[in-house]
Order: sequence, then C-alpha cells, then structure tokens
Amino acid sequence: MQSTEDTIRSVVQEVLAELQKKNNGTSVPKRERQDGDWGVFADTDQAIAAANEGFAGLREASMEDRAKIVEIVKRICFEQSEELGKLELQETKVGRLEHKIEKLQIIKKVPGTEWMKTDAMSGDHGLMIVEYAPFGVIGAITPVTHSLPTLAGNVINMVASGNSMVVNPHPSGKKIACEGVRRFNRAIYAATGLQNVVTIVSEPTLESAERIFQHRDVKVLCVTGGPGVARAAMASRKKAIVAGPGNPPVLVDETADLDNAARSIIAGGGYDNNLLCIGEKEVFVVESVFNEFMAAMDRAGAARMNSSQIDQLTKAAFSPPENKDDHWHLNRDLVGQHASVLAKHAGMSLPESTPLLFGETDEQNPFVPEEQMMPFVPIVRCRNADHGIDLCEKYEHGFRHTSLIHSRNVRTMSTMGRRMDTTLFIKNGPSPAGLGLGGEGYLSFSIATPTGEGVTNPMTFTRQRRCVMVDDLRIV
Ligand code: NAD
Repeated sequence: MQSTEDTIRSVVQEVLAELQKKNNGTSVPKRERQDGDWGVFADTDQAIAAANEGFAGLREASMEDRAKIVEIVKRICFEQSEELGKLELQETKVGRLEHKIEKLQIIKKVPGTEWMKTDAMSGDHGLMIVEYAPFGVIGAITPVTHSLPTLAGNVINMVASGNSMVVNPHPSGKKIACEGVRRFNRAIYAATGLQNVVTIVSEPTLESAERIFQHRDVKVLCVTGGPGVARAAMASRKKAIVAGPGNPPVLVDETADLDNAARSIIAGGGYDNNLLCIGEKEVFVVESVFNEFMAAMDRAGAARMNSSQIDQLTKAAFSPPENKDDHWHLNRDLVGQHASVLAKHAGMSLPESTPLLFGETDEQNPFVPEEQMMPFVPIVRCRNADHGIDLCEKYEHGFRHTSLIHSRNVRTMSTMGRRMDTTLFIKNGPSPAGLGLGGEGYLSFSIATPTGEGVTNPMTFTRQRRCVMVDDLRIV
C-alpha cells in the first residue's frame, strides 16, 4: 500500500509532467517570423499592420509572458548599456557618455506588470470587478534627447498592460531606436514566441508620424517631445498622452541650505548636458543670499562666467527673434554639448569634465525664457521669495511640467507648489529626484504634462472594463 507521502509525490509529479507538456507545446509556438527586420519596417503601414499582429499575439499571451518581455527589455538595457549608450551618443551627438549609459541602466526602475491591478466591489447584489485592459496598438513618438531610453521605458509600460506599439523615432536618433527594437524583438521571440510586440519606422518623417496619427488601427498616441509634436498630437482625433516640453525654474530662498542647493542644481542641470526635460534651466535667488549662493556654486564645481563671457555665449547660442514677441532661435549645434565646448565660444578654456556653467543674468537673457538644453544656467536676482515665485511662474510658461525650490520655509514651499501647478514639484534635491532617482517614486522618460497623466506607468495605457455578476459570487 502507498503511504500518504508517496501518493502526494506521485500526484505532484503528474501535475508537473502535465505542466511541462503544456509549456513545451504552447509557450514557444513554431511560427515563422513575419516580414520586416525584427520589427523594423521601411513602410509605415506595414509597421502598423505588424504591430496589430503583435497585439493579437499579446492578447493570447499570459501575464507571465508580459512579465518576461518586461524583464528582457530591462536586461538588454542594463547588460548592453555601454555599447548601446555609445551608439546613441555617436548618432545623436548630444549629451554625455556616462549619462547615456546610466539612462539605460536605470530602465530597471521603470514599473512593469507588478503595477497591474483589478478593482472589485461587492454588495447585496453580488460582485463587480474592474479590469484594466489594453487599448491595442499605441503610436509612440520619441525624442532625440533620450531616444532608446524613452522607447524602452514605453515598451515596458505599454506591454505590461498588454498593448503593442509602433514607433516613429526622432530622425536623428532612428538608428539606435531601430537597433533597440531589433534586439528586444529577437530576445522576446526566443523567450515567448511572440513577434512584433514593438515595431518601428526606419526612415521616420513628419508624414510617417502623420500616418500613425491618422491610422484607424492605432488606438492611442503617446508623444514625447517639444511644442510642435505636442500640438500635432493634441490636434489629432485620437486620445493622446502628451509628454510635452518644459522650462523648469528653480527658486532658492534665504532659508535654503545653499551648499545643498548648489550641488543639486549642478547634478540636475548638468545631467546629460542639461538635456532632461525636468533639468534645472533657470535659477532665481533671493537677493540677501545671492552672493553666498554664487560662492556655493563655485565650491560645488560649476564654472562661473562673467557678464562679457555670458554675452559671447548668448550670441553663439541664440539668434534674436524677427518680432519682439517671438521666440529666440536656438543654435541647435550647441544643444547638449559639453560645458567646455560652450565655454570656448566665450573664450574660456575648461576641462571636459566641467559639469555646468553658471553666471548672473537679468531675466531678459534668452537663457531664461527659452528651453535651452545646454549646460549653462542663468542665475537671476529676485527681491524676495514672493518675487521669485512670480518669476518662476512667468518663465515656466504654463507648461505645468517641473519646478523646484530650495527652502526650509514650509509656507513658501506650499505657496510655490500651489502657484506653479506643475506635474513635478521638487524640494531640496536635484531634478532627477522627481523621477525616483534619489527621491521616492518610480521612473519614466515620458512625463505626460498637458494631458495630465503625469509620470507614465503601465496603468496609464489601460482602459477600464467592468464585469458584473448579479446576486451571486459574494462569499460574506
Ligand atoms: P522635438 O519636438 O524636436 O522632437 C520630438 C519628436 O517629435 C521627434 O520624433 C520628432 O521627429 C517629432 N516631431 C516634431 N514635430 C512634429 C510634428 N509636427 N508632427 C509629428 N512629429 C513631430 O524634441 P526633441 O528635441 O527630440 O526633444 C526635446 C523636447 O522634448 C524638449 O522640449 C523636452 O522638454 C521634450 N521632452 C519632454 C519629455 C517629457 O516627458 N515631458 C521627455 C523628453 C523630452
């Protein structure tokens, strides 16, 4: 006679054998790869059609498969960060290598399937559940400032919630974006048998973007970029999740820890040569601590420029608007360049390791109103905290993106927080702290600002579906 232990063992073995059989049969289906080069398509319609098939595959796949895809994207970004970071810098020619690499390594902080949830209510009439379902194919537009990191973060968020994705990358970051898509799809196919979970247009243009915006099989748009693409997406007839431009102001008041403020501004404003949309772009300092703050910036390792050097840099970095009310024109050749390169335009010779340039300007200097994406931050005097908040509000331009304060006065923090109404409001730390990097929270490279979804996560890309069982299934 079999002992109880033997009986349990043989039942477990049978179940395991059955599971193994099932897995071998279904988890890697023997399908041939579709057209295209692992998700890279010259033709926009083909890229959309393939993403649609990718979505069909995902609908049949398990939550475990989605989790595998998330892990694959994180692993590739982490393990291949040096090679991919170098490729990104070679192609885009903006930013700093160490930060290009780091931005790929931190992709592991982007939330995945663990964020998916189901809501439930039970009552006299039974049970109601709300499931968070995918939309289908999401059309994504990615910026040159973080081409592959944005794409990778979007794949993690969108696939975790069951969507597939078609990408129109920035033309100056298309090669690295396509290479990422190839590597992701190859590994995803090997692990799950799923294909074209993410597809990409290899020669992106405004027309290919427009085709994605208009195509009926693309259900939602997620655009990450400046004012032009933000406007275009919001003018389309689709639901658009818009991660738009910013011009983050910083207020330093008389109660601030000035050394911490200086270190933070250098860490955030100098990151990847100030390419981050959340990066510190202009600083307003209360007059009574202005000189002390400038000395703290010297101590913390930023390079100070005098007014004639700032004039020379400003002339190299901007050309004046045709009409007084228009924008200054940014010299794109200087965007994302090292502080040492900018300094040369002002006749200064600095080591390549210099993280940031700074100097006193008035508020009319174009570095204040324009989102310059260069490692020079203008420092402007203000009479007091209230005046500083007025200036911050004025030069954030109502983007409602990011603002920062260095203060120990809770009342001033609250006043500024209410007045700015920005998606991120960071106190006493560098801007990346607002994305879970040294502060609490989680990471995404797409911060939806005008459309209000905030720091995007898997739940951002879901639609609610309610399922009701009348008068039953309630167990208490
Ligand atoms: P960009 O606006 O020049 O380009 C962004 C993307 O939009 C590119 O793929 C580009 O080809 C496309 N595009 C531009 N105009 C378009 C139009 N009319 N129709 C369709 N597509 C269009 O920006 P960039 O220089 O690549 O990136 C920097 C900008 O992006 C900054 O303004 C920055 O603040 C913003 N950004 C925002 C976030 C965020 O999360 N909110 C993140 C990164 C960057």
